[in-house]
Amino acid sequence: MKAPVYMDYQATTPVDPRVLEVMLPFFTGKFGNPASRQHAFGWEAESAVEHARSTIAKILHAEPREIIFTAGATESNNLAIKGISEARKQKGNHIITVRTEHKSVLDVCKKLERSGFEVTYLPVDQFGLLDISQLVAAITSRTILISVMAANNEIGTIQNSSAIGQICREQKITFHTDATQTVGKIPIDVVAMNCDLLSFSGHKIYGPKGVGGLYLRSSHPKVQLVPQMDGGGHERNLRSGTLNVPGIVGLARAAEIAAQEMADESSRLKSFRDKMWSSFSNQLDEVYLNGHPENRLPHNLNVSFCHVEDNVLMMNLKDIAFSTGSACTTASPEPSHVIRALNVGPVREQSAVRFSLGRFTTPEEVDYVIDRVIANVRSLRSASPSYTRKTREITHTSV
Ligand SMILES: *Cc1c(COP(=O)(O)O)cnc(C)c1O
Repeated sequence: MKAPVYMDYQATTPVDPRVLEVMLPFFTGKFGNPASRQHAFGWEAESAVEHARSTIAKILHAEPREIIFTAGATESNNLAIKGISEARKQKGNHIITVRTEHKSVLDVCKKLERSGFEVTYLPVDQFGLLDISQLVAAITSRTILISVMAANNEIGTIQNSSAIGQICREQKITFHTDATQTVGKIPIDVVAMNCDLLSFSGHKIYGPKGVGGLYLRSSHPKVQLVPQMDGGGHERNLRSGTLNVPGIVGLARAAEIAAQEMADESSRLKSFRDKMWSSFSNQLDEVYLNGHPENRLPHNLNVSFCHVEDNVLMMNLKDIAFSTGSACTTASPEPSHVIRALNVGPVREQSAVRFSLGRFTTPEEVDYVIDRVIANVRSLRSASPSYTRKTREITHTSV
């Protein structure tokens, strides 16, 4: 086994060698611009892009013309939310989203608030699930857009997207979902979900970074979007800019492999994940699973090792790549907005860490991480005044 061990597949994934292989020719020999309609180099590139478009469309149960290529899910979320807000502002100015969304949704909403839109940020329960009746209650005659992620990147909780989609359809509200963590992991059907826009990204599914896409419904109803990038009129005028042909080819191959291997991969990763959780919870006290116990992505494990600060654990386990919820972008690390939204208290917030498993995770790595984490949590706790105090109280009350 080679250290360091990578257990941060929800942050990014390596490019699958099978993906790289199909991308390579498009950097050199097949370098044409798909917008060059006058010669064979352009036709070759265009045909590769259109093949990629239909591959992705099929996986999402969409039509090829409903797929727009972007530079990733951040751009897709920006295009979807800003584009719909601009297109529908005559009808209303109210947007509904959820507190546990990715920053590329929340920060777009915050910006729109500064230009006259009203945004409702719905709470979630202790498992990260949205309460559908609260969603219904938040809808007003001015509501134009509901944006709810399909599955959460930190805690893995899977929302009931079909129920949300049905409400949106009945009320003629546009429904956008950030499915960046969901595409390739659990089956997606934009028709069954009544979804109008859906964002996805290459580098979360063993494809390249800097490429992604947006599904945009073209009928029943046709969804109108104001482009956010103006220029040569690429992607049916919705996203100008020369297409990232190698990236798009890689994205489609990555999505295809993920769809083909989804069943096997998710059961394998789920058994690894369950082994980690049962080892942690059997061998340590004061550990909590963050996120939903059943409705969760198979490869996600978010755990609070209470009384062991997330950053301290991370510093003690430099040979394991995992992630803490805290945004270390400021001098004082803030607990993750996702864990905070669960309302499980500061002790669980400060000690929440995420392990995310993936295609190249081995059983040896899983065992190694289990042993290292348990040993470190034990030794850090023995030096933690809040933990020793806590256990003393427990011993006293039980006497
Ligand atoms: C990674 C991620 C994004 C951002 O995707 P990029 O392609 O890196 O811009 C957006 N939403 C979720 C849920 C993510 O996990």
